[in-house]
Amino acid sequence: MLKVYNTLTRQKQEFKPLKAGEVSIYCCGVTPYNDPHIGNARPFVTWDVIRRYFAQHGLKVRYIQNFTDVDDKIIAAAGRENLTWKDISDRYIKSYFESMDALNVRHAELYPRVSETMADIIAMVQTLIDKGYAYALPNGDVFYSVEKFTGYGKLSGRKLEDMQAGARIDVDERKHHPMDFALWKSAKPGEPSWESPWGQGRPGWHIECSTMSLKYLGEKFDFHGGGSDLIFPHHENEIAQSQACLGDDAGFAQYWLHNGFITIHEEKMSKSKGNFFTVKEILAKYPGEVVRFFILQTHYRSPLDFSEERLAEAQTSLSRLQNTQGYIKELSAKADGGGEAAAPLAAKAKELWRLFDEAMEDDFNTALAISQMFALSKEINIYYQQVTSGEVAFDAGNFSQAAKAWADMAAIIGLFEQDEAGADDGLTDKLMQLIISIRQDARQAKNWAVADKIRDELKEAGVVLEDTPNGVRWKRA
Ligand SMILES: [Zn+2]
Repeated sequence: MLKVYNTLTRQKQEFKPLKAGEVSIYCCGVTPYNDPHIGNARPFVTWDVIRRYFAQHGLKVRYIQNFTDVDDKIIAAAGRENLTWKDISDRYIKSYFESMDALNVRHAELYPRVSETMADIIAMVQTLIDKGYAYALPNGDVFYSVEKFTGYGKLSGRKLEDMQAGARIDVDERKHHPMDFALWKSAKPGEPSWESPWGQGRPGWHIECSTMSLKYLGEKFDFHGGGSDLIFPHHENEIAQSQACLGDDAGFAQYWLHNGFITIHEEKMSKSKGNFFTVKEILAKYPGEVVRFFILQTHYRSPLDFSEERLAEAQTSLSRLQNTQGYIKELSAKADGGGEAAAPLAAKAKELWRLFDEAMEDDFNTALAISQMFALSKEINIYYQQVTSGEVAFDAGNFSQAAKAWADMAAIIGLFEQDEAGADDGLTDKLMQLIISIRQDARQAKNWAVADKIRDELKEAGVVLEDTPNGVRWKRA
């Protein structure tokens, strides 16, 4: 029985899918204005494991994640570089995928963008006005009226009275309540804007996630996720918007899961302090699977402290599992030697798989689940030594059961999906471009010996060069 910690109820609850055999998930995506940093990666790695867990258990997973491609930070970046907001968001959406692919994060079913969901967003704002939950100002701004929604504060556990007392004095006089938030912002000169019933403008941040999740997952769906920094105000506001729009206090997401922060050397990540690492910077030094493994060695709700030392430790730990993976590959290629020598191993593997699953059922405790993988690794290593030393005959039947348990664990944690060189972080391609250009230089200088040597030795290494109208390309043979 799977239990998850629901931020909304502040307790671990049994998970019951709304629709038998299916699970629907919405996770807040990134604002693509820079390369994703290690903190951005945590929710996506977490949800990737959760999705793999459900898929492994035979559930059909529908997972939606947005891109906030219209935003102040994107507009500011576009201004600095003299580009359009779309140039910036396209560039960093590409960067997002490069980083997450390297971490074995599988793609969502759909990545809706604000700019492509504008009509639905406008319709939802209009519904909130029509139902009396929102008000438009003469200048075209539209605000959500938090006092109209009785459940406001239920996710974060805050009370509106306390929030009002804590609000700063320089509040916007035009708002009915200091905590009222923008659903639609009237256009400022030079900014991207869209036509709406309130004039040219663009949406506030919170409305997009309500619109997209309801649009693609329906009025009720199972999970909503994101970093714990999103609980207030973003997710609180999403609930207020969505449930008001639906007219249903039990509508919208049923389980709210939030991952903890990543700190750097026990301090909050901050660009100004210089303790800020993008995934790409880390990938320049470590394979993606090490970064993924590092993240998953801690339970998703616990804070996670990042340092190079800890990453190096994760690499050492992971290499132990990689060794076992190598042994399994080697043994699996062997012919059956008869006997039942691996029967105890198969029994142990079955038990460890059960413990692994139990750990996952306890609010996706990947830290504990990984420790069961280490226990199985130890057992497999012992068996490998016994077989290779000739102590026992290779028992293919029983061994394959242990290997299956191992593969199932690895498939959920998301390991051993990359070749030994790690994810293609772009370094291979850069080095190949360098080699190709050296060969071109050699050819131009009519140094055929060097040019041929490069081509032949690359071929030896399994790389083929092809002449195309766009220059020389390389590919793995
Ligand atoms: Zn969101």
